[in-house]
Amino acid sequence: MKTKSTIVHLPVYQPGKPIEEVKRELGLTEVIKLASNENPFGSSPKVKEAIEAELANISLYPDGGSVALSEVLAEFLGVDTNQLIYGAGSDEIILMIARAYLVQGDETVMATHTFPQYKHNCEIEGAVCIEVPLKDGTHDLPAMLAKVNEKTKVLWLCNPNNPTGTMVSHDEVESFLKAIPPHVLVVLDEAYYEYNMTGEYPRSLELLKQFPNVVILRTFSKIYGLASLRIGYGIGHPDVIRSINQVREPFNTSRFGQAAAIAAIKDQEFIESCRKANAEGIAYINGELQRLGLSAFPAHGNFIMIDVKRPAKLVFEALLRKGIIVRGGHALDFPTSIRVTVGSREQNEKFVAALEQVLSEVEVGA
Ligand SMILES: *Cc1c(COP(=O)(O)O)cnc(C)c1O
Repeated sequence: MKTKSTIVHLPVYQPGKPIEEVKRELGLTEVIKLASNENPFGSSPKVKEAIEAELANISLYPDGGSVALSEVLAEFLGVDTNQLIYGAGSDEIILMIARAYLVQGDETVMATHTFPQYKHNCEIEGAVCIEVPLKDGTHDLPAMLAKVNEKTKVLWLCNPNNPTGTMVSHDEVESFLKAIPPHVLVVLDEAYYEYNMTGEYPRSLELLKQFPNVVILRTFSKIYGLASLRIGYGIGHPDVIRSINQVREPFNTSRFGQAAAIAAIKDQEFIESCRKANAEGIAYINGELQRLGLSAFPAHGNFIMIDVKRPAKLVFEALLRKGIIVRGGHALDFPTSIRVTVGSREQNEKFVAALEQVLSEVEVGA
């Protein structure tokens, strides 16, 4: 047997250690996970009711067309239902875009470093990934534009960018889209869209009206707090959505995911409170970093990439021993940085206290 040649070099995804395992291994009673940008406040209480109501239907396939969810979401966003597509997380929509748009030898443009699933899925299709280095942790749009040619099929823009948290503005994205030829599908991955508090974040639904070659990805995994239910969505021109739908598995999102998403959209008060708490958390952590003499990239999602000026692996391990799980930059090609999810106020305070201790334990340049 032989697999297809495009996957031979791919690593198997290595998940972080579960909280229970960390507790057992290190003999800790309390472990705080600030590694996957999950919502520290969980999800809306209305979600639980929606899930309970759906328990009676476990034996029935979900609605493959997500009709009820689409009605609610289309109205909420002010788009037509034929402009929406759902995936088992927006991860799956990334996969479907690669599957629908890329064949062997096509070119696809993305930043480095950015969300790894773009490259992963494009490589499986045999596409050539053109990676454009970030500039000061931010997408370098002119450099990305310079890499676009007649072979380019898809361009990926992660905004805010994971793992750096930086953002590109409405005006920057608009000028960029004006210069991009219409044969290129531009993916705006807005997984952290709802956290944004600046007036400059792209009004991407407006851009979509001007540029039918744009598709916007959003998710219920982050601020909506439904990560385990695996549901995300894409918004695009009906023709683009139709193409992605052609490769979609018939029942790719679950009844629970759809029902929970409907309930979650209807509770915008919860979303508002999470957005506010997150902004306060960022302000608090940034203030503390200043006190500790550390710097971070401007954070526009629910996570902060901090330069700890010490080997990331050592800082990651030392924090782990104190019961705080973060993402070590050593795994992301940022050798002296850590990426930390903004938690609840109490979690943020514990993180800062642990970090302060770790800074005294791990020598600069160790
Ligand atoms: C978390 C994340 C996603 C997708 O999450 P799903 O759970 O698959 O919806 C997509 N893009 C970025 C940049 C993310 O950080």
